[in-house]
Amino acid sequence: MSLEGKSAVITGSTSGIGLAIARALAAQEVNVVLNGFGDADAIETERKRIEREFGVRALYSPADMTRPVKIQGLINLAQKAFGGPDIVINNAGIQFVSPIEEFPVEKWDDIIAINLSSAFHTIRAALPGMKERGWGRIIQTASAHSLVASPFKAAYVAAKHGIAGLTKTVALEAATHGVTCNCISPGYVWTPLVEKQIPETMAARNMTEDQVINDVLLAAQPTKQFVTVDQVASLAVFLCTDAASSITGANISMDGGWTAA
Ligand code: NAD
Repeated sequence: MSLEGKSAVITGSTSGIGLAIARALAAQEVNVVLNGFGDADAIETERKRIEREFGVRALYSPADMTRPVKIQGLINLAQKAFGGPDIVINNAGIQFVSPIEEFPVEKWDDIIAINLSSAFHTIRAALPGMKERGWGRIIQTASAHSLVASPFKAAYVAAKHGIAGLTKTVALEAATHGVTCNCISPGYVWTPLVEKQIPETMAARNMTEDQVINDVLLAAQPTKQFVTVDQVASLAVFLCTDAASSITGANISMDGGWTAA
């Protein structure tokens, strides 16, 4: 099935997994709205590159995922420009690593807002249009941490378990409307988010960089390899096809066997 002419909002798509999903959808002729933070020139260069490379329209919104009003604005932008969004990828996320006794309250609030509540807000705003059109795809970048925990990641694990629950509820509510809602749950993917938590984990666990990579990050993954952003993006594209129309409410692991253990 062609996705030509559909439109997608991908939160947190200026980097890492979100950017790879945006590019993979654009390669299927989907018009995209990019979102996230970063250097303005670099974002504009990437936006233009997507338009040139794939012959689609690519817009950018700096909407902050901690702010419900801005999230509504992001969905409105896709509505105005493309009559959509037909596809919502809830991907924006941050991490913070600390023992719970010292976990900064503001970090807890930010992680819950960005990694969990923002998905509620995008879905709340986008679902009515999807139902009206009788077609929609909602995909959350969850995590292996939506299924299992690790120490020192209280907020992240709570948010990711929450998003798995939200996914199931939305899947049930949308089931007869041609709209599916699923989680993709990667293990460790080599992105700036993972790179950033290495120094924090070194401090929290009193380890060297090599120890964090091999004994903490890849220790969990039986394959001993990082998942790639392109692998996650390929699964997201598949979930948007007609072949995947009976997959809904699922939490699909892509974690090198981590949660099989
Ligand atoms: P990343 O740091 O490369 O990208 C995060 C994106 O979110 C960036 O575009 C950033 O600008 C954006 N963002 C952050 N705060 C924002 C805010 N307040 N408003 C709008 N955008 C904001 O990280 P990534 O590894 O690509 O992570 C993407 C998603 O994948 C996250 O939800 C993360 O939890 C999840 N994930 C990552 C891994 C991994 O190992 N990298 C594994 C499992 C799940």
